[in-house]
Amino acid sequence: MKTVALGKTGLTTAELGFGAMYLPRVSPEVSDIIIRRALELGVTYFDTASAYQDSEEKLGRVLSRRDKDFVITSRSINYKMGLAAFRQDFEQSFERLKLPVIDFYGFHAVNQPRELEMAMKEPLSFLKEQKANGRIRHIAITSHNPKTLTDALLTGEFELAMFPFNVIEREPLDGLLPKAAELGIATAVMKPLAGGVIDSKQLALRFFFNHPAGVVTPGMMSIEQLEQNHRVFAERSPLSAEEMGCLEDEVAVLGREFCRRCSYCMPCPNGIMIPFVHMLHMKTWGKPMDDDVAYTIELAKRMLPALEKCTACGACVEKCPYDIPTPQRVKDLIQMLQSV
Ligand code: SF4
Ligand code: SF4
Repeated sequence: MKTVALGKTGLTTAELGFGAMYLPRVSPEVSDIIIRRALELGVTYFDTASAYQDSEEKLGRVLSRRDKDFVITSRSINYKMGLAAFRQDFEQSFERLKLPVIDFYGFHAVNQPRELEMAMKEPLSFLKEQKANGRIRHIAITSHNPKTLTDALLTGEFELAMFPFNVIEREPLDGLLPKAAELGIATAVMKPLAGGVIDSKQLALRFFFNHPAGVVTPGMMSIEQLEQNHRVFAERSPLSAEEMGCLEDEVAVLGREFCRRCSYCMPCPNGIMIPFVHMLHMKTWGKPMDDDVAYTIELAKRMLPALEKCTACGACVEKCPYDIPTPQRVKDLIQMLQSV
């Protein structure tokens, strides 16, 4: 696999990184096997976060027993709750990972300007102290909003920026990626498969050989996914114009308002499983009836009493980095389910 430099930090990594967001879905034993295989295949960059349930713990089970031949990033979203909560997450990351030093530690989901302001106060001073005393090597920031993230990079405080970038979400090409390159800031791609909504996964990953963007970290939770992704990055074959056209045709039907299943909108105060609502909506709304659609509608019918609890409070819309109109989709589904 190609080796990429992580900005001006002096660190390098294989271009394919490991997104550990989905590790909580597998047992510790399975997770151990996947992480060991990733290392065997030459994967050296691991991305996790305190919000990803036991993901840090699972990485720590394997990585803490190795010589330091990998790079790890973790982050906390609790800068939004003040320094005490952020500090607690920070210490917890060390306990879970069982590592003496974390390469990159940072702020998770800094999407809005007011969130950047919060991060830049005591939480940033705290991370600078931790960097000075050697517990972390570099300070990172992640965001779903290229404009906020570009503003953050211009402060000169961050050494790694992580953001969604894929064939559907290409905004980082306009300002963020060139600015990061100009400033020598490392870049890490999240959601390279747009949250799992692209069926042509290999083509979607090959998009990054046409548009290199640092380390690419698809979420992985099986050996099969890992080995498939590794094969694509080992062959490193850019998309032809024809293949790019096929991929663009496939994603055109999704538009921009599609759920990336990130769960930032959760929990719903009324217990509605919002990512599942969007999956049901995507698979049924406006689709001609066939066996698959009929099956999904039957599944959705069981959710009708839960859907009817939606008060359209808008809390989910406020938390969604993509402005997905969840209350409207819930309403659409209720209407459809009541009419079939
Ligand atoms: S609008 Fe509906 S789905 Fe969204 S948080 Fe409120 S009750 Fe839950
Ligand atoms: S509605 Fe928005 S926040 Fe919720 S899972 Fe989908 S993309 Fe993520």
